[in-house]
Amino acid sequence: MEMLQKVKPRVYKFGNKTADGNSKMKNLLGGKGANLAEMSTIGIPVPPGFTITTEVCTEYNTLGKNAVVDLIKEDVEKSIENIEQIMGATFGDKDNPLLISVRSGARVSMPGMMDTVLNLGLNEEVVLGLAKKTNNERFAWDSYRRFIQMYGGVVLGMKPESKEDIDPFEEIMEALKHKRGIELDTEFTVQDLKDLVYDFKEAIHKKTGLDFPTDPWDQLWGAVMAVFDSWNGDRAVYYRQMNGYPADWGTAVNVQAMVYGNMGDNSGTGVCFTRDAGTGENVFNGEYLINAQGEDVVAGVRTPQQITKLGSERWAKLAKVEEEERLKIYPSLEELMPNIFKELNSYQEKLENHYCDMQDMEFTMQDGKLWILQTRNGKRTGVAMVKIAIDLLEEGLIDKKEAILRIEPNKLDELLHPVFDPNALKRAHIIAQGLPASPGAATGQIVFFADEANKYKNTILTRIETSPEDLEGMNLAKGILTARGGMTSHAAVVARGMGKCCVSGAGALKINYKTRTLIVDGKEYQEGDWISLNGSTGNIIEGKVSTIKPELSGEFAKIMDLSDGFSTMKVRTNADSPKDAKVARSFGAQGIGLTRTEHMFFEVDRIKAMREMILADTVKGRKQALNDLLPMQREDFEGIFEAMEGFPVTIRLLDPPLHEFVPHQLATQKDLAEDMHISLQAVKNKVAELQEFNPMLGHRGCRLGNTYPEITEMQTRAIIEAALNLKEKGIVTKPEIMVPLVGTLREFEEQEKIIRSTASQVFEEQNDTVDYLVGTMIEIPRAALTADLIAQKADFFSFGTNDLTQMAFGYSRDDAGKFLPVYLKKGILAVDPFEVLDQEGVGQLVIMGTEKGRQTKPNLKVGICGEHGGEPSSVEFCYNVGMNYVSCSPYRIPIARIASAQAAIKAINN
Ligand code: PEP
Ligand code: MG
Repeated sequence: MEMLQKVKPRVYKFGNKTADGNSKMKNLLGGKGANLAEMSTIGIPVPPGFTITTEVCTEYNTLGKNAVVDLIKEDVEKSIENIEQIMGATFGDKDNPLLISVRSGARVSMPGMMDTVLNLGLNEEVVLGLAKKTNNERFAWDSYRRFIQMYGGVVLGMKPESKEDIDPFEEIMEALKHKRGIELDTEFTVQDLKDLVYDFKEAIHKKTGLDFPTDPWDQLWGAVMAVFDSWNGDRAVYYRQMNGYPADWGTAVNVQAMVYGNMGDNSGTGVCFTRDAGTGENVFNGEYLINAQGEDVVAGVRTPQQITKLGSERWAKLAKVEEEERLKIYPSLEELMPNIFKELNSYQEKLENHYCDMQDMEFTMQDGKLWILQTRNGKRTGVAMVKIAIDLLEEGLIDKKEAILRIEPNKLDELLHPVFDPNALKRAHIIAQGLPASPGAATGQIVFFADEANKYKNTILTRIETSPEDLEGMNLAKGILTARGGMTSHAAVVARGMGKCCVSGAGALKINYKTRTLIVDGKEYQEGDWISLNGSTGNIIEGKVSTIKPELSGEFAKIMDLSDGFSTMKVRTNADSPKDAKVARSFGAQGIGLTRTEHMFFEVDRIKAMREMILADTVKGRKQALNDLLPMQREDFEGIFEAMEGFPVTIRLLDPPLHEFVPHQLATQKDLAEDMHISLQAVKNKVAELQEFNPMLGHRGCRLGNTYPEITEMQTRAIIEAALNLKEKGIVTKPEIMVPLVGTLREFEEQEKIIRSTASQVFEEQNDTVDYLVGTMIEIPRAALTADLIAQKADFFSFGTNDLTQMAFGYSRDDAGKFLPVYLKKGILAVDPFEVLDQEGVGQLVIMGTEKGRQTKPNLKVGICGEHGGEPSSVEFCYNVGMNYVSCSPYRIPIARIASAQAAIKAINN
């Protein structure tokens, strides 16, 4: 008997309270498609439609258009029939036409990154039918005009040619407005719209040589393929790279019946959030526009109105709009259409409770009937993320583990970033106010184009409005300022997602791209002038304003405390001064994983003694210079031990090549020669002698200590004396002396011998002792390969993944900037391995080093102190390897604490 093989569907239908898919199928249906299916099933009124899966996108990329159309044609035709039945209209019918939308939808939301076509199915005949059916000729022609515009841009490539150019269709519309002496799109007459349709088609023909497709099915296939193509468009590729999303995810395509918000004053469209995406406050909020389509709200051309009365009143206060004017011109939906508001309010409650998370929803009212177009977990600022997680926990919607998993560790960065210094703010001159679109503070020099966002070190990208093309520049800029757009404009949504300060909709700004100027209240500002933005109040300030560290909220402390209840791996800090150590402790560091002692030698009063030591020709001369350094080092260590009282402190012996300490400029060489009473030539000779071809692979790390043992002696003495001095004051210290750049057991043994004999000598001199450990960095591949041998002697291992990455890849840490950006752009590397630990390659050395070390010493203490110790995916890896701790810079401590707890929770959940 022939086996019936079940073919995995490529097309999934939804609508009329049923669906083929559900919200768990995000990988296959994309986030949007999965949620549409889910909403339909739980009784939310979504316009019926279907989703073509992400796997078809991948098939399209390999098989091409024709083969893919063959694969899905029958299913798509059946699904269109299903929509026709539910909506009681027919695709392409000139009397009773069904119009559809075609949208992208990847498994994660990528706002504005890919393309959308609305009103598909219109042509010269259908438009007449639509006018008759709706009894609204203007609406029909306006829809047709919009369709040609979108289809032209998305499918037929009608885009601006250079950055100074405006959209070719906008240009035609502007010319007509000018001719007719009107300002707004809404002032176009039916005849104007007909003329526009004609002119648009002409422009398309002129540029592409193609006639605009009239057959709705041709239109549909064109749009579906364009959405697939947009997955590999520049914007989407950049967004994917920025977020580390792989190319083979693909996008789904959602095809849905159109519903119209622009059918008159009983229609409208809006975007809403179940909680405040900026602050996390538990208030339903959002924006809408009467007689408009979705893109009108986000495009920022008209000023959107608030959904709730409370939101409207708050907005009016910020926008300095009097109550009377607010009620008359900008009433809330709650006031204007109380019944629709009530229904919408019930859906937002239902959806938040269903998904147990803050929802970002889009809706349309068509002639008094409410449709929900989309829901998704809303993007939010770091502050809102923490507050919402804690609030949902306290409201009983999620449990502790889930609350911790809801934290995107890297986003905590935003909470720790500076805000304006209130004293500096007192002197600040506020030149205008916009909407507080994304909180934080930013100060920088004005640039007007996204691709010039790195023209200065700190820039404020200043635009009339932003578009997805500007993404890269928005990411590079310190802050974003737009003249148009509401809280849900592209700039606002994207900035919040990035955690970047943004002020939007500052109507007082007159921006001129050609002259690269900004005029506010008659005063002109030019490119390069400094301005400052307060993303929490919407204030735009002239000049530079200094910033200070932020205060942490109660919710932040709560989530941190919660996470400690789950973490088993400790988080230490990399700190080279008592000040850094204190900051790190305030963030919850449980010890120091790396003190780089070389940083202590760079300070002005010390560099001289250091140079004398290096320039000395004899051991005696060197010891003398080291003697001058000893008290300074001891004092440093005392400060650090004290700041970390009771916690372990790992101090690493001197690591960098000596040539870093000698002057390379003639003037400073002369000064040094004078200071030391030696000839300039002698200084020059020494500098030349220390020059290396490959300093990173040269005379550094334990190679220094093994060639100049007196350095190791002095540093050990300083550490042990500092610990004994504190012991006398009753302060508990736990010194861990760490030998850098060990590649062989013998290298370590030599250093260990010096350390232990120096420590014994100090104990004898002072007639007292402290406990201390002697361990090593594992940062040379050979050390990982021979870790079983090294562990015979080392008390602990700390993986130096900066050097380990450098040496495993053979990429110079100092020179990788020349090729890494190209590698990332070309996708040769998915991420920068100096930022995100390369688990596949370098990770093997880490696993091997840990396992081999523990074969010899089962309880060997193992940690990491390379930059990866504060990067969430690397922290999770370290947990899975079985490390005792990770160590990172002070400001990354909260990120590492959450990542450590999440790793433990994921292990429990699995
Ligand atoms: C390392 O190599 O990972 C490390 C922590 O040491 P450094 O960055 O000082 O070389
Ligand atoms: Mg190193």
